[in-house]
Amino acid sequence: MSEKAEDSGKLEIVTPQGHEEDDKPKKMRMAKKNACDSCGKCCGMGGPVLQKEDMGLLMSGTLSQDSLYAVREGELVFVPGEQEPKEFFIEVIKVKEKNEGGECFFYEGSGTCRIYENRPAQCRDYQCWAPSECLTGIDSTRILRKDIFGGVPFLMDAIARHNEKCSYEKLGVSLARAAGGDEEGMEDVIDMLQYDNSLRELLKEKLGITPDAADLVLGRPLIKTINAFGFYVVQEGETFTIMPIETERKETP
Ligand code: SF4
Ligand code: SF4
Repeated sequence: MSEKAEDSGKLEIVTPQGHEEDDKPKKMRMAKKNACDSCGKCCGMGGPVLQKEDMGLLMSGTLSQDSLYAVREGELVFVPGEQEPKEFFIEVIKVKEKNEGGECFFYEGSGTCRIYENRPAQCRDYQCWAPSECLTGIDSTRILRKDIFGGVPFLMDAIARHNEKCSYEKLGVSLARAAGGDEEGMEDVIDMLQYDNSLRELLKEKLGITPDAADLVLGRPLIKTINAFGFYVVQEGETFTIMPIETERKETP
């Protein structure tokens, strides 16, 4: 949500309630938005990407580690209103959504943000009436996992090994091979799923990092993010079965 006002506005449809004098329902009309009225529409379209100036919110605990996740380079992510997932070409840290591509973790509905006074920079700066102005420069201003965990060599090492063994580039290639009937491709995907799963268990066992907080350290589990690649996984203990998703929008059956 932004408090900035701009001269150039965005047209939006307003649906007035009630009836005209002749008893007909009031007609829709177009209104120009040029300042944030805290409607909450943007909060229903996912959590913000964190910027360096948000580090204080992490330090103070306003943004707890289990309210955040890392989107790794090459990850496919569903965004509201789009049928096809979008590829993230760079790593970012985001506030979690309540479900895939859904409301921000801190959104309580009716335009209410649970951390409004301390909301992240992207929420303060976002202007829905001029979205292109809000998307510039994110490459140099975003927070990276090394900004958060740089002082913990064990975690940085785990992140590096995970990126190497379970990169989304490798996952995409192996899935394509598996889909073409290549057994080695399928074995590679299963190896990645097992590695991703066991590393999360190790972080919990050694450092007490909960599965929710592990989403920030390692990104979300491959067993979930694989859905955006058109597959779903059934896990029974250490056994993983991979199936293609047949539905129109690539959601887990
Ligand atoms: S969509 Fe977001 S930025 Fe636009 S008016 Fe609503 S709360 Fe403000
Ligand atoms: S942190 Fe608050 S203002 Fe920002 S998207 Fe979430 S609910 Fe909206």
